[in-house]
Amino acid sequence: MIYMTEKLSSELEKRFADVEENLKVIRERMAEAAVRSGRKPGDITLLAATKTVPVEVINHSIELGVDHIGENRVQELTEKYDAYRLDRCELHFIGHLQKNKVKYLVGRVAMIQSVDSEKLAQEISRLSEKKNLSTDILVEVNIGKEENKSGVLPERLPELLEAVSSLPSIRVRGLMAIPPAGAPEAETMHYFSKMNEYFVDTKSKRMDNVAMDYLSMGMSADYALAIRAGANLVRIGTALYGPRNYGKN
Ligand SMILES: *Cc1c(COP(=O)(O)O)cnc(C)c1O
Repeated sequence: MIYMTEKLSSELEKRFADVEENLKVIRERMAEAAVRSGRKPGDITLLAATKTVPVEVINHSIELGVDHIGENRVQELTEKYDAYRLDRCELHFIGHLQKNKVKYLVGRVAMIQSVDSEKLAQEISRLSEKKNLSTDILVEVNIGKEENKSGVLPERLPELLEAVSSLPSIRVRGLMAIPPAGAPEAETMHYFSKMNEYFVDTKSKRMDNVAMDYLSMGMSADYALAIRAGANLVRIGTALYGPRNYGKN
């Protein structure tokens, strides 16, 4: 920041102010949805989805109280890693993950939200064990059964949970989903409610090593809906940081 030009710094200041204003609105809407679904505002975690967002802006939101951030690309996470204010914030990985990239995440992220195969879980457990630690994960469900989309198919979820529960250095903390984009509200609500059913159902099974602490669903367009359906962790990018081409033409 030392060599920043005046123009850049005023742009950054404008952006800081926008984030502060956006965060207020998001917190209010989250609180309202929490209360409407019989919970307390503090029961719902806001995770800032930080892809393409400069670290200065991310760190500003951390100063404003954001205590969970998530990246969805391993390379971007690696490039930004040393600059995040992780003394005050948990870093999650939320994007599609290939087995050969797991090594860049284990020991660095507090949670991997996007585990959708036994092979991937095995690799996370193997590398975690090597480092003498245990990695928290969420199992991602392809709730809309969309082709070319990450996530385990709902009908295969029990089998995957069963397999993952026996791995030594992984802890399942909940479920994650991204329903089909742009669907009508009623359809989106249907998917969110289905996810909540799986969440509640899995919790009642009390499987070893499988805790249903987090139901991660809801993004900028639908986080209030997701919370009303039972989500307790929402992942928000655009509504907090602005459109992703922010500052470019
Ligand atoms: C980008 C992203 C989000 C946030 O999306 P917005 O619509 O910008 O809020 C949430 N989850 C994942 C996995 C993402 O990649």
